[in-house]
Amino acid sequence: MSRKWVYLFDEIAEAEEVVGGSWDAVRALLGGKGAGLFDMTRAGVSVPPGFTVTTEACNEYQGNGKFPEGMWEQELTALKEVEKRTGKKFGDPANPLFVSCRSGAKFSMPGMMDTVLNIGLTDATADGMIKLTGNPRFVWDSHRRLVEMFGSVVLGISDEAFEKPLAEYKAKKDYKHDIEMTADDWKAMTGIFKTVVKKQKGIDFPQEPLEQLRLATEAVFKSWNGKRAVDYRRATGIPDDLGTAVNIVTMVFGNMGSDSGTGVAFTRDPATGERKMYGDYLLNAQGEDVVAGIRNTEKIEDLAKEMPVVYQQFLDITTKLERHYKEMQDVEFTIERGKLWMLQTRSGKRTAKAAVKIAVDMANEGLISKEEAVLRVTPEQVDTLLHPQFDAKAKQSAELYAKGVNASPGAAVGQVYFDADTAEKMGKEQKQDVVMVRPFTKPDDVHGMIASKGILTSEGGATSHAAVVARQFGIPCVVGAAMVKIDLDKRQMNVDGNVVKEGEWISVDGTTGEAFVGKIPTVAASLEEQTDLLTLLSWADEICARPGIRKGWPERGLQVWANADYPKDARRARSYGAVGIGLCRTEHMFFEPERLPVVQRMILADTSEGRIAALNELLPFQRKDFDGLFEAMNGYPVIIRLIDPPLHEFMPDEEKLFEEVVTMRVKGERKGLAEKEALLVDIKSMHESNPMMGLRGVRLSIVMPEIVEMQVRAIFEAAADCTQRGIVVKPEVMIPLTGTVKELEWIQPRLVRIAATVLKEKGVKKLDYKFGTMIEIPRAAVTAAEIAKLAEFFSFGTNDLTQMTFGYSRDDAERNFLVTYVEEGILPVNPFQTLDREGVGRLMQMAVEEGRKTRPDLEVGICGEHGGDPESIEWCHIIGNHYVSCSPFRVPIARLAAAHVALKYSGKRIAEDK
Ligand code: ADP
Ligand code: MG
Ligand code: MG
Repeated sequence: MSRKWVYLFDEIAEAEEVVGGSWDAVRALLGGKGAGLFDMTRAGVSVPPGFTVTTEACNEYQGNGKFPEGMWEQELTALKEVEKRTGKKFGDPANPLFVSCRSGAKFSMPGMMDTVLNIGLTDATADGMIKLTGNPRFVWDSHRRLVEMFGSVVLGISDEAFEKPLAEYKAKKDYKHDIEMTADDWKAMTGIFKTVVKKQKGIDFPQEPLEQLRLATEAVFKSWNGKRAVDYRRATGIPDDLGTAVNIVTMVFGNMGSDSGTGVAFTRDPATGERKMYGDYLLNAQGEDVVAGIRNTEKIEDLAKEMPVVYQQFLDITTKLERHYKEMQDVEFTIERGKLWMLQTRSGKRTAKAAVKIAVDMANEGLISKEEAVLRVTPEQVDTLLHPQFDAKAKQSAELYAKGVNASPGAAVGQVYFDADTAEKMGKEQKQDVVMVRPFTKPDDVHGMIASKGILTSEGGATSHAAVVARQFGIPCVVGAAMVKIDLDKRQMNVDGNVVKEGEWISVDGTTGEAFVGKIPTVAASLEEQTDLLTLLSWADEICARPGIRKGWPERGLQVWANADYPKDARRARSYGAVGIGLCRTEHMFFEPERLPVVQRMILADTSEGRIAALNELLPFQRKDFDGLFEAMNGYPVIIRLIDPPLHEFMPDEEKLFEEVVTMRVKGERKGLAEKEALLVDIKSMHESNPMMGLRGVRLSIVMPEIVEMQVRAIFEAAADCTQRGIVVKPEVMIPLTGTVKELEWIQPRLVRIAATVLKEKGVKKLDYKFGTMIEIPRAAVTAAEIAKLAEFFSFGTNDLTQMTFGYSRDDAERNFLVTYVEEGILPVNPFQTLDREGVGRLMQMAVEEGRKTRPDLEVGICGEHGGDPESIEWCHIIGNHYVSCSPFRVPIARLAAAHVALKYSGKRIAEDK
């Protein structure tokens, strides 16, 4: 016997048995749409009878180019069963059955693949149907739709080939809307469409219902590898080998008159997350009309007035579905002569804002746990929420151009392009900021949409294609701005004579549904006002702080600290939830205009005394810097890195100086020349052929200890002063670029002595402080056991560690060959963005293990840019870091990512798992 390729909607138990019961596997077998239909059928929701051809059959088809053995026979058997249940017969003019043939992969790919409605309509069954319904207009409308959909989906005829004759026909009759078309008009159109098929493909439109079904099934299989579907999978990371199922569903007709209709709805508002039904419907219409955004739709609330009983049923069903899936549902329904049928349910796509609100609300409603709520939001979504908004003042004075539906929130500024290919070209190749403007979008436009910063359409509603896609990719979008007249030929748009041409700038506010002429400046989003996000992040923190969430040491999840050089950054970091400073770079403090000359004097001093004199001038500045930082971080640790860069960075540029000297000589200017010449000699003597690996970090401190001695004095004087003011200070002094423990042995005791002296001078008895080092040279990682004899903490400087481990200089690599390496598959990703676990990561892991052998309570963190990258954060959790430290703006993202990884590995001793 051949394999089971086809399942009736009530055979979910059989399907579960075959795949071993898991819902995920059922979805993989039957596709998301199919699984939803099966599940609703089981729950007693009214779903039209039907059956599903599995994704396995699709995959077989992709391999062999033909249906697998037995599949078609099984389809015919299932069809017989559907005939029995509906009491109708496929192809029988006396009592015809019609079906739809619908694609549906494991993960929903809205509009990416194909569906054909009204299969089974032929000249003969059309006549029969007219007799049965007494509604010839409905029958001819349905028939022309079949010819049109079949022609485009199955036979690959362009949409335009059908749209054009229809538009011409309407113009000739002086009709504005489809609704004015009579039965005879649709009949005529059906004939015209058949001629189109004949002309384009040289075949007669198939009059054999089973032939229609067979070809449609095959077309759905083929659509899995259509360009749109492939593009969409690339953009969303859906694997190619999942395949699509084919769902054959008894047709229910929303176009049978004014007691019929069709619609789509979300159980919560997909833009804001608010708990209320959200959607559109149309009376006397068929499925595609609503989604395509061709006719202007009604709001779902109005259905309550129009058909109160049906609406109540609808609310009951959708509430039940939401409770069952514990997720916001996106449903499709059709009402046929007052009877409600559900045609699809799936978890609804939503904006980042809605995702957060829905997760928090559902946890508060008791539908899901707090952990689940935290897992429902991705770090990328948090990222979008912290993206810039329009500056409110600037917006007020901007010129409002058009208003439409606020389909996907956020602020976008860009140059206007009117088709997807140009939008893609300008966005991707020319690196322009693009706003794509279209009457409405179709699945073929997705490549242009994802290359755009914003989208504006003149037609369609909140559930139109443009809106759905924009929300999913987090692209600000306004749809249905009807006042905008788009002239695709002239490449311009027009609102009451106000013309915007291709390439001109507009600003789109997807949050309010407005579009403006020109560029409006943007400002950072504020976290304080996003109360749901704050709640969610507090839950994330609770999870990470749970003892035992991670076995081994530490027994808690990761903390999130921030890299901050100035008090104002530290305050922002605190407000974003950072519980420590993981990296304060002190050299920034040397660059301030009033300080730089002193710094240069210090560098150029011939004697230690001269140097110390200059440093004494710098000391009060440094002390004040640290004071502000400690105050902002009251109660939390602050890691201060001692001077790191090579000294030439503080000096004037050698070439420029040389030019000046030459010019002065030529012009015979004597004044100041001698000093400049001397300076030039000094700078020349400081020249290094590879400064990144030269005199910097701890090496510099050993050659010129006075600088770091001053820094340590400043740190501890500030710490003592703050302590006396009642501020809780936890300074941690970080020595950069250690490669051998001998370096620490040389420098650290001197610095510790200074700290002790200062505290004694100031009369501070107790202060919680540490001395430690950055691990950024492979040798340090390898000899971590030795280094930990002195270092009380490690902080991974993964920027340098990545450079030194790969032997790449970052700037040169990113400019010259990294892209090629990634394209050629030599590197999976840019290792400066996502930590290389196998190399750099292994070194880190080794350093933690070795270091803790010497010093079991060794504190470990990361301060490289990787500290804000979710993938890299996961690795830090795995190897036993205490914290990750990142830019203040990424702190919320890191907090969520830390909770995700804590939950993923909950209670596990991870180093052993790996
Ligand atoms: P998509 O994946 O693009 O949403 P669908 O397969 O869900 O495609 O179908 C497209 C439209 O046709 C939807 O509005 C759907 O509700 C409608 N539709 C599909 N099958 C039927 C059916 N058997 N009876 C009535 N309408 C249907
Ligand atoms: Mg479709
Ligand atoms: Mg659908």
